[in-house]
Amino acid sequence: MTAMTRRSLVGLGMALPLLGPLGWSAHASQRPASASDPVRINYNESPWGPSTAARQAMREGIEHCGRYPYDAQYRLIETFAASNGLESDQVQVFCGSKLALQHAVMAFTGARSLVVPDPSYEAPVDAAESRGSTVHRVALDNRHAHDVEAMLAADRTPGLIYLCNPNNPTGTLTPRRDIERLLANKPDGSVILVDEAYIHFSDAQSCIGLVKEHPELLVLQTFSKLYGMAGARLGLAVGQAPLLQRLEVYDGGNVAPAPTLLGALASLQDRQLVPQRKADNARLREQTIAWLGERGWRCTASQTNCFMIDLRGPATPVVERLASQGVLVGRVWPSWPNWVRVSVGNEAEMLRFREAFATLTTG
Ligand code: PLP
Repeated sequence: MTAMTRRSLVGLGMALPLLGPLGWSAHASQRPASASDPVRINYNESPWGPSTAARQAMREGIEHCGRYPYDAQYRLIETFAASNGLESDQVQVFCGSKLALQHAVMAFTGARSLVVPDPSYEAPVDAAESRGSTVHRVALDNRHAHDVEAMLAADRTPGLIYLCNPNNPTGTLTPRRDIERLLANKPDGSVILVDEAYIHFSDAQSCIGLVKEHPELLVLQTFSKLYGMAGARLGLAVGQAPLLQRLEVYDGGNVAPAPTLLGALASLQDRQLVPQRKADNARLREQTIAWLGERGWRCTASQTNCFMIDLRGPATPVVERLASQGVLVGRVWPSWPNWVRVSVGNEAEMLRFREAFATLTTG
């Protein structure tokens, strides 16, 4: 093991955590993992949680919880729209981007199909299958990018084509020119949804700038990943107003919680937050991937807070063996049964991961 010994891990602290009402230890995201805490690197959450400014704003938001916080929602929309060169009617707020995704599936599929990359985030597939829509799964290409030609060929008149860029679970990017080619060649009446849940971790350019020219392009972003607000639930949908109105049928005029909106605003106003967390995440991810590489394990070329490891054999037993050591990783995707997804935690969590992973190969 490089730069880590069993002794240094023990030295990280053995104190029993104080459990909060949800059974989580207080400020778990800010403390190094102790030997008694499970290491939760299985849901692509942030090990850092909301920023200091966001926590302060969220506390202040409690004072406003007696009223519907439309003002805060308009301020958030206007701030986001202004910094992305959009009109405010081109941004819609949802309690999590998953909800926006589910509503997009409801709005744009049904009689018409859904086309998705595989492996990728399963929420749109689950939503489409629950309403009986046809789903076409298209394998990633050999660079682990979306195979846009095959996606276009999957159905001549799909209702919705889902892109995830960077992709969950591989963390890999699809080149901008491929996304532009898809937009240029898609059938009329088919909506393209680009899910940018992980864009802030990557060097990729957002597709938000393409919304002006493309009336059937929907882009989703979230505060759950780099901004560390998964538990506060906030996602944004960006598109031309008539497209967003088709989603409003399901969520029209809804408003997000006041603490969440104020926390999100404070996050957007913090100019250091994205570059700082992006750099910290990349450092921890690359350290871990290099450590695995030195031991002969191949990983995906991730630009996000997760990556996949090729275990060259069934991955599910490995997930179980790591869990038995208190290190929660996963999931395994059915189309890639030998690969496991690992989320990037904080320094101490990644040390615990390495120690547990090392025992798998040494018996
Ligand atoms: N999109 C992708 C690609 C995700 O991985 C996730 C969550 O893991 C989501 C959307 C949903 O995020 P949220 O509903 O927390 O905004």
